[in-house]
Amino acid sequence: MKFSYVCTECDKVFDIRQELMVCPDCSARQKADEPVRGILEVKLEGEADISFDVLDLLPVDKKYFASIPVGNTPLWKPENIRNQTGFSNLYIKDDGLNPTFSFKDRASFLVSAFAKMHGINEIVLASTGNAGSSMAGVGAAAGQDITIFLPETAPEAKLVQAMQYGANVYKVAGNYDLAYDFSLEYSKVKGGMNRNTGYNPMTIEGKKTVSLEITKELGEAPHYVFVSAGDGCIVAGVIKGFKDLLQLGVIDNMPVVYAVQAETSDALYRANETGRFDGRPTHTIADSICVDIPRNGYHALKLINEHDCRIIRVSDDDILRAQHEMASKAGLFSEPAGATAYAGFKSEMENLSKDAKVVVISTGNGLKDVVSAMKGIKAPEKSIKNINEVL
Ligand SMILES: *Cc1c(COP(=O)(O)O)cnc(C)c1O
Repeated sequence: MKFSYVCTECDKVFDIRQELMVCPDCSARQKADEPVRGILEVKLEGEADISFDVLDLLPVDKKYFASIPVGNTPLWKPENIRNQTGFSNLYIKDDGLNPTFSFKDRASFLVSAFAKMHGINEIVLASTGNAGSSMAGVGAAAGQDITIFLPETAPEAKLVQAMQYGANVYKVAGNYDLAYDFSLEYSKVKGGMNRNTGYNPMTIEGKKTVSLEITKELGEAPHYVFVSAGDGCIVAGVIKGFKDLLQLGVIDNMPVVYAVQAETSDALYRANETGRFDGRPTHTIADSICVDIPRNGYHALKLINEHDCRIIRVSDDDILRAQHEMASKAGLFSEPAGATAYAGFKSEMENLSKDAKVVVISTGNGLKDVVSAMKGIKAPEKSIKNINEVL
């Protein structure tokens, strides 16, 4: 397989080099409060059939990957939910079962290997929590030094994880967008590889592996895929994976991928309607998809529109209900941003054929944010002193 970069704005092709993160021409037009300009996509040329090896479709040799079991997450067949909804071909891809309990491991895994291939030992990034704890965990397995800029509002579990993995963590007095800018300035001065989502092309490329795994396991592409979206990097990776398989002739249809956003943090949705990213401050209970300026916004919208995919929105109440329903009916406890995809499926299911093969991607484990999860349940109010109180 031969790999190169292609600019997603001007189509210019480049050799893959570690110091090249964005298209030099298009990034020159970068404005402060807008998504990243000149995002580079990995282009591949070669041949494959359905017996392909996932790692062979990535632009870094196998020997550089850390010894940590990222990906190959289980594809659940949730029987109760299948019976209740009538969707007998519904699957849930449980990416909360990655080593650091989120989908972000797919990106960290490839970035770590890419840095290793180039002899770089420090990786720097901004994160709402999961990307940081993920890079910290994968970096620990790879023996790399990880520096993270984290908004002070990040859930405690994600901070604890990053510290346990031994990362160097800076708490930022502001939101993710500020942490993002700080991390870019830091790596400009201090060097190392920047793993900011979208900005580093390997983050999107690494995330495509989920689509490759789903296709291998089903023996064909599904009809519909639901995944939550904040920066738009995961949804772009999901579409990119199927796009590669289409190009290689491994599959012959592109699934309709639904990017599911929170109603109150819906920058991608709004930009798709209005044609511009306004940077309006947003909020949602699903912290992992709470983003004012989606860093991969231009690229995500381009892929979504080119491949007839969709963007839909659900409320925070829908998300909390979906979280509890998935946990109590399937036994799969997902963080709010993970349950957002299932909430999207629930809101859209009346428009889908019941025979369709549907995959809902759960992107993070429920224990990552117990404070939010508490809002969807009723905890026991008082402790009992005597068993007779309940008999
Ligand atoms: C990062 C993340 C998302 C959203 O991914 P984007 O690339 O920001 O759109 C969704 N769910 C979880 C659990 C995440 O950590």
